[in-house]
Amino acid sequence: MEMELWFTEKQTPALGLSLKVKETLLRRRTEFQEIAVLDTVQCGRMLVLDGMVQTTIADEYIYHEMIAHVPLRTHPDPRSVLVIGGGDGGVVREICRYPQVEKIKLVEIDAGVVEASRQFLPEISSALEDPRLEIIYQDGREYVSSRNNEFDVIIVDSTEPVAIAEGLFGTPFYQGVFKALREGGILVAQTESPFYNGTLLQTTFRRIHSIFPQAFLYLASVPTYPSGLWSFTLGTKIVSPMEPAGDYLPTGLRYYSPEIHRSSFILPPFVQELLRCEEAPEPPAF
Ligand code: SAM
Repeated sequence: MEMELWFTEKQTPALGLSLKVKETLLRRRTEFQEIAVLDTVQCGRMLVLDGMVQTTIADEYIYHEMIAHVPLRTHPDPRSVLVIGGGDGGVVREICRYPQVEKIKLVEIDAGVVEASRQFLPEISSALEDPRLEIIYQDGREYVSSRNNEFDVIIVDSTEPVAIAEGLFGTPFYQGVFKALREGGILVAQTESPFYNGTLLQTTFRRIHSIFPQAFLYLASVPTYPSGLWSFTLGTKIVSPMEPAGDYLPTGLRYYSPEIHRSSFILPPFVQELLRCEEAPEPPAF
């Protein structure tokens, strides 16, 4: 009987996602985190950081299309884009589909993630050689504190708000983002699961709402993320995201469409309640 190998991510203390593993392709510790790349039966190759699923070949297009094309098609003419985190390159790949974008900066704290993605996830890291891209290995919070009036869109594609990423969910960081954006600029940040991370989502949304004139939450289904229901918070200085302003639509997209764009902002009552109520309810545990 062949021994089976499984990887489990504890999505809450009482619930896990398990994937059967064909091969461990990489496992190393950098000064920032443990990086692993696993080849799984169900989802193909998968990047795992400190035991948390970051992206898999099977479903990465959903998350990367939704975090990139919603802000890029909300802004009427994005030229300069900043990605914070995002070392796997998936968001950069989606930004590179826009010919009018002239400058892309990727501020990733851990070069080991870029190296791992280049070596084991070429489908995701394929655009990291684009001449418009500059990769800066630095803490995103430090970086934005030194930038002013530079970017049309800033996308925060960070790990969960613990350890090195904790500062990327705080008010000082979002104030730095606001300052680094041009007039008419747009911020999008991944803000975890409305089902399991209600308190974090509520706190983060309120922080962004307190700094930006308008803030919106939108949702997408990401099968390998906790609960499969994922949120993004969009802060905007001027335009509303409800109607895509940009008329350019990249071809070959598999999740994003103008209809999905509009419908992703329609929130189920429990999420509307989350944004409205004083104290977020604890995640369900029966
Ligand atoms: N899509 C994934 C998600 O939603 O969880 C995130 C993918 S990407 C691999 C997350 C990246 O954020 C990691 O490469 C990590 O090194 C980077 N990161 C974490 N904290 C950071 C910080 N303070 N500054 C810059 N990058 C950071």
